[in-house]
Amino acid sequence: MNGSELRERLCDPGLLREAAYMAGKWVEVETGDVAIDVRNPSTDDVLARVPDMPVETLRTAIVTAQEAQAEWAAATGKERAIILRRFFDLVMENQEDLAILLTAEMGKPLAEARAEVGYGAGYLEWFGEEAKRAYGDIVPGHARDKRLLVMRQPVGVVAAIAPWNFPSAMVARKLAPALAAGCAVVFKPAEETPLSALALAVLAERAGVPSGLVSICPTRDAQGFGREVCDNPIVKKLTFTGSTEVGRILMEQGAKKIMKLSLELGGNAPFIVFDDADLEAAVQGALESKFRNNGQTCVCANRIYVQSGIHDAFVERFSRAVAAMKVGDGFEDDTVIGPMISENAAAKFRTHLQDALEKGATVETGAEPHPRGGKWVRPTVLSGMTPDMIISKEEVFAPLAPVFRFETPQEVIALANDTVFGLASYFFARDLNQVWKVAEALEYGMVGVNTGLISTEVAPFGGVKQSGLGREGSRYGLDDFLNMKYVCMGGLG
Ligand code: ADP
Repeated sequence: MNGSELRERLCDPGLLREAAYMAGKWVEVETGDVAIDVRNPSTDDVLARVPDMPVETLRTAIVTAQEAQAEWAAATGKERAIILRRFFDLVMENQEDLAILLTAEMGKPLAEARAEVGYGAGYLEWFGEEAKRAYGDIVPGHARDKRLLVMRQPVGVVAAIAPWNFPSAMVARKLAPALAAGCAVVFKPAEETPLSALALAVLAERAGVPSGLVSICPTRDAQGFGREVCDNPIVKKLTFTGSTEVGRILMEQGAKKIMKLSLELGGNAPFIVFDDADLEAAVQGALESKFRNNGQTCVCANRIYVQSGIHDAFVERFSRAVAAMKVGDGFEDDTVIGPMISENAAAKFRTHLQDALEKGATVETGAEPHPRGGKWVRPTVLSGMTPDMIISKEEVFAPLAPVFRFETPQEVIALANDTVFGLASYFFARDLNQVWKVAEALEYGMVGVNTGLISTEVAPFGGVKQSGLGREGSRYGLDDFLNMKYVCMGGLG
C-alpha cells in the first residue's frame, strides 16, 4: 500500500495528516523543508511526509502547553471526564481508519491493529472516569489545634516519548492519565510511526481538548527532544517507553532537575510450563505471548522454560502451530506475522538464531531465510537451549521462540529471575500451592498465570529492576501525574 492507496482506503481521509501538531496549530511540510518520509514497512512505499520539527518549535510548544495547562487544571474532574469520554467515543467510531493507518505505518496484521486501537481507547475511557476520583485525605491529627489534609495536584507540563511497536495505544496510554490528572503533554512519537499519533490528535481536537494542551512533535532529533525536555524548567515530568539504554540516558539527564519519571523499559520475560499444566492452554498462551505483534512487544515471552515431563509434547504441538502461521502483508487475510519494523530488527533475529545454533540449539520449525529477505523472517522454534546463549540474557524482540528444558521449580525460578529485567512473566500450572509460591517468587512487575495475555487498562502495567519505574493504567496510574501536597492547619482553638 502506498500513500494514495492509503488515503483512498480511509473513510475519513482527514485522519491522515502530513503535519506536526504544535502549540495548537497544524504545521504542514512546505516545499524544501526537511521532512520525515513515513514508510510502509511491508512494501517500503512512502505513505506520507511529516515535518521534522526542530527543537526551537518544541520550546514554543512547551510555553503554550504551560499556559493551556493552568486553565485545564482549574477545570473540574467532571469537565475533563466529559472531554476524555468524547475522545474515547471518537476513537471507537474511527477504529477501522485508525487500524488501517496503524497497519500501514507499522506492519502489524490488521486484526491486531484493530485490537490495539480498542485497547488504547480503553485508557481514555478509564482515565476519564478516574479524573473524578483524584481524592485526597483527611489525616487524623497529631496535635489538638491542628488539622491535616492531603491534596493531589497535577504535576504540570509532561513530556512523553514513545516507541514504534504500539503507535496508537502508546499515545492513549500516556495522554489519558496526564489529561485526566490536569496536565499538558508534549509528545514525541517514534520517527517510524507518527501517523497514528497525529490521527489521534485530530480526534482529540474534535473532542474538545483545548488548543495547545497537547502537542505532537515528530522529529528525527530524538536526542535534542530528550535534552530539551530534561533541561527545560517548565517540563515537570517525563513518561518514556522504550529501551533500557535510552531510559538510562534520560534518567541521567533528568537527574539535573530531579525530574519526575515514568519509565517503561525492556523486558526478558520468562514463560514457564510446569508438568501439571493444561497442555493446550499452555501452547495457546505461548503462541499469544510470543508471537503477538511479530514478537515485538516488551511483554513477549523471551525464554520458554518447559518441565521435562511435558517438554516433548509441548514442543511438538507448539512447533506445529508455529509452522502453520502465515507470514505476509498486514492487510492480507489470515496474516499472523508481518514484516519486522526494520532490517536491523531482522538482523538481530538472525544474530540470536545463529548464536543459538552455533551453541547447539535444535531447529523445531522455521529458521531458514524468508524468500523476501530484508525485514522478513520466519517464525521459529528452537529447543535444546542453554543459559550461555545470547537470547537467555537479551530481549530478541522478534518471532524467535527458544525452549529450555528444566527439572525442578527451584531451578526454574532461579533461571527466570537471573536477569536484570523485571517486566512481564508467565507460568502455567494447576497445583494451587505451586501457583501461589511461583507467583510470589517471580521478581517481575507482572505475572500471567495460565494466560499469555495480561495487558488491560484496568490493571497496573510496569516493571521492577531495570524494566522501569511507575505504572500505567489502573487506579494507581493517575498517581504518576499527580503531586501530593500535605497541608497542616494549625492554631485552631
Ligand atoms: P526502540 O528500540 O524500541 O526503538 P528506543 O529506546 O531506541 O527503542 O526508542 C524509543 C523512543 O525513544 C523513540 O521515540 C526514539 O526516537 C526515542 N529516543 C531514542 N534515543 C533517544 C534519546 N537519546 N533521547 C530521547 N529520546 C530518544
